[in-house]
Amino acid sequence: MLITIDTLRADRLGSYGSTRGLTPSLDAFAREATRFAAAVSQVPLTLPSHATILTGLHPAHHGIRTNDGFRLTPTVPTLAESLKASGYGTAAFIGGYPLRGSSGLSRGFDRYDDEFLDAPGVTERSAGAVTQSATAWIEANRSQPFFVWIHLFDPHSPYVPPAPFAAAYRDAPYDGEVAYTDAIVGRFLDRLRQLNLFASAAIVVVADHGESLGDHGERTHGTFLYDATIRVPLLIKLPDRATTVRPAVDVPVETADLAPTIAMVAGGTLAPSDGRSLLPLIAGAAGDPDRPAYAESYYQNVLLGWSPLRAVRTGRWKLIEAPRSELYDLEQDPDELQNRLSERAALAAGLQRALTSLDGGARSAHDASAAATSESAERLRSLGYASGSAAPTAAGRAIDPKDRVAVWAEIEDGIDLTAHDPASAEQKFARALQLEPGNGLAMKYLADLRFRAGRRREARDLYGRAIAAGFRHPDAYVNLASIAEREGHLDEARAALLSAVRLTASDADAWNRLGLVEARRGDLEAARRAFAQAIAVAGDRAEPYYNLGVIERRAGHETAAQARLQEAIARNPTYAEAHYELGTGCLLARQPTCALDAYRAALASRPDYPEALFGAARAELDLGSRDDARRDYEHFVRVAPKEYQKQVDAARAALQQLRIKN
Ligand SMILES: [Zn+2]
Repeated sequence: MLITIDTLRADRLGSYGSTRGLTPSLDAFAREATRFAAAVSQVPLTLPSHATILTGLHPAHHGIRTNDGFRLTPTVPTLAESLKASGYGTAAFIGGYPLRGSSGLSRGFDRYDDEFLDAPGVTERSAGAVTQSATAWIEANRSQPFFVWIHLFDPHSPYVPPAPFAAAYRDAPYDGEVAYTDAIVGRFLDRLRQLNLFASAAIVVVADHGESLGDHGERTHGTFLYDATIRVPLLIKLPDRATTVRPAVDVPVETADLAPTIAMVAGGTLAPSDGRSLLPLIAGAAGDPDRPAYAESYYQNVLLGWSPLRAVRTGRWKLIEAPRSELYDLEQDPDELQNRLSERAALAAGLQRALTSLDGGARSAHDASAAATSESAERLRSLGYASGSAAPTAAGRAIDPKDRVAVWAEIEDGIDLTAHDPASAEQKFARALQLEPGNGLAMKYLADLRFRAGRRREARDLYGRAIAAGFRHPDAYVNLASIAEREGHLDEARAALLSAVRLTASDADAWNRLGLVEARRGDLEAARRAFAQAIAVAGDRAEPYYNLGVIERRAGHETAAQARLQEAIARNPTYAEAHYELGTGCLLARQPTCALDAYRAALASRPDYPEALFGAARAELDLGSRDDARRDYEHFVRVAPKEYQKQVDAARAALQQLRIKN
């Protein structure tokens, strides 16, 4: 059983020295487990960190560097695959959007429970909902050995703990989320005890990263590699605990060690990994206090073009490699405030060599990156993450993230304010641009705000400036295209959408829009190709099938049109417009019964759909259902928009006729 608690700072647990009393359940569990005092996350970002936990590989080897625009390559072996091959039932229960199954992490799981993310705009669910789902699966599958991964997202921002934790932690909502999550973990472990599964289970509790909460000027996580975010709580309880188990391990370990550890507990093997099994340490082996545990962040490198950060952390020392590198003595200076680099040059040089041998060849993050899609960027923004990519700055002029942390702080505040207080968000992005005039990300976010406010000319200028500054994001092109389209510049819209799909060939929305623009330009062949691409990258989406149906009808291919519309409905049974178009086909073929069925289906999901009401009434007249026809014409007259005056007049005339005949 693997329980990952997102964004949980080690120093919030009583077993790690906290006196806040937030974690009675985890502290009780720690007394039955081995506690790792120096566990290091390889990257302080949700998706790449979990990819490391679930593969045993460092980010350079599994290829995922940030939360957006990366996908686990199908050739990378996963822990779940290996356990499944050894006969374990495998199931994952996800709490937050960054770990959506399309990230590739679902590979090897019989059940990957992330369907709650199918609802538009939803980004997380509560720990209570995750464990409820997991408990039901365990109860149904307990007769076979199983591997269950539970991801609890609550301590991640925004901090909105449920009652009664909201009131109890009004002034410290992050702590409230931690206390709530702890209570849920306690309830879940109790349930395992009731099911007689607790004692025989290996249970790992770990955080993917911590949270800075203002340390070093960082509010959340992802930018820096200080202990607030990369030193994580790690508790491991082995099955049927032997007496020789050690209560605490102080030597440094990596979250990359978890996959080989779990594989070994399960009696299986994992493909070669960057980690090593922790079982000898748990059994009492001394371990190496000078083992250099690896950490990196490419977040601001990908986003803003700033220098990447990489670090090694031993039991006592941490070297952070940056344009101005840092060395900290964690024993004397656990808050990492005094850079010892100049006094301990030889020590630092040794750590630098260790780092170089660990980093997997320091492939550029850009090589592995596939750009964000507009849909994922929007949901990640609501969790406080930025998306997009900047042109990397030449190594010699690389920007040290600690010199620009104020810029990032403004952008991060702006991201959080965007949905609820756009005026304040605008001030934050403007302030970031004052601090760093060439910041393409801030320009792009400002442009988004202007775009949403309908200030199209300003938005177009800002998107243009962001692109000229080297910033790349499909939204910028998609929104430029929609501005151009509204102004009637179809060629310009087409060029912008071609740039979007060149940047992210997997952006189904951009392909779909491109198809619509090609159709408006009258190039049905190009439209057909674009919709086919949208289907190729996201075959479960209904819109491109619908759009193909509409253009086949325009081209006079009625049979093909009907087939595409049926395919759209197969993917979205409540697709009102697709039902309506099908009905129109029936009417053209003089099949009023078929038409009426289709219009009724359209009206079932859109009761005031004017065109469907008008069509239904006509079909009903044809079929002699005079009362139904009268009802639908009357309904149509009530809801028809102004531009349907001609049809309203026709409906009134038909109603007149119906009354005369009565
Ligand atoms: Zn996370």
